[in-house]
Amino acid sequence: MVSKLCGGVETGGTWTVCALATGPDDIHVVVEFPTESPGETVPRVVEFFRGPGSAAEAIGIGSFGPVDADRSSPDWGSVTTTPKPGWQHTPVATVLRDRLELPVAFDTDVNAAALGEHRWGAGQEVGNLCYLTVGTGIGAGLLVGGEPVRGLVHPEVGHIRIPVSDSFAGVCPVHGNCWEGVASGVAIASRWGQSPAELPDDHPAWALEAEYLALGILSIVLVASPELVVIGGGVMERAPLLPLVRERLSALNAGYLETPRLGDEVDAYLVPPALGDRAGVLGAVALAQQLLEA
Ligand code: ZN
Repeated sequence: MVSKLCGGVETGGTWTVCALATGPDDIHVVVEFPTESPGETVPRVVEFFRGPGSAAEAIGIGSFGPVDADRSSPDWGSVTTTPKPGWQHTPVATVLRDRLELPVAFDTDVNAAALGEHRWGAGQEVGNLCYLTVGTGIGAGLLVGGEPVRGLVHPEVGHIRIPVSDSFAGVCPVHGNCWEGVASGVAIASRWGQSPAELPDDHPAWALEAEYLALGILSIVLVASPELVVIGGGVMERAPLLPLVRERLSALNAGYLETPRLGDEVDAYLVPPALGDRAGVLGAVALAQQLLEA
């Protein structure tokens, strides 16, 4: 199968990335700019696809959420109830489709990243995959049989509850101390009064973070039974953190799920993204290609 040259747009909470590519080994052009208000950001995306990205046959968008990704909904292609100022109920996909007159696919940034890792990255051998990102917020894309899980809305695992063992009130504007509220990068900065990047490796923040991440990941594993969990995002760039999370995940499972993937083979079960920080935008390219192949 020859991969089509497609556009990808990753609208993150902080940065927006646009790319034109057929896959990770054939990225023609990629640009990044800060995610400002929709009135500033959407026109810049349109400009990219009228200029350097104009050869795209279709465009895929992976957006921060929550989003409406239901093709039959009148609000398809919109960001919905996000806490991000100015973005509530903002149509994104329909604007690009109408201005550029191209087929447009739309999903969450984490579902897109999960698809990218499944198509080209760490998850090529599995159909049931979780892509988890721990950065400004926490989010996860879940694939079952190679397809993103959609239903009532889409999974929003960053907002599950985990047992909390400290008195920190949490930073989620809706729930306070939900998972994202206690374990995101913003939560770490708020709890310790220093950004995660400034905390030394031996700071107690990291053991607590590993515990909280492992508790949430174990819930995902028990509910959705992914064959692989890919974990990325800015907080995970702290090298000693991933081994600590693996260790706690294994310990918290306590042998209940009798699989080496949560024991001796946990290093091959909880892995960083093979596509690195390009997983999101390449996943958006994958969304566009999937639309053309449908
Ligand atoms: Zn929450």
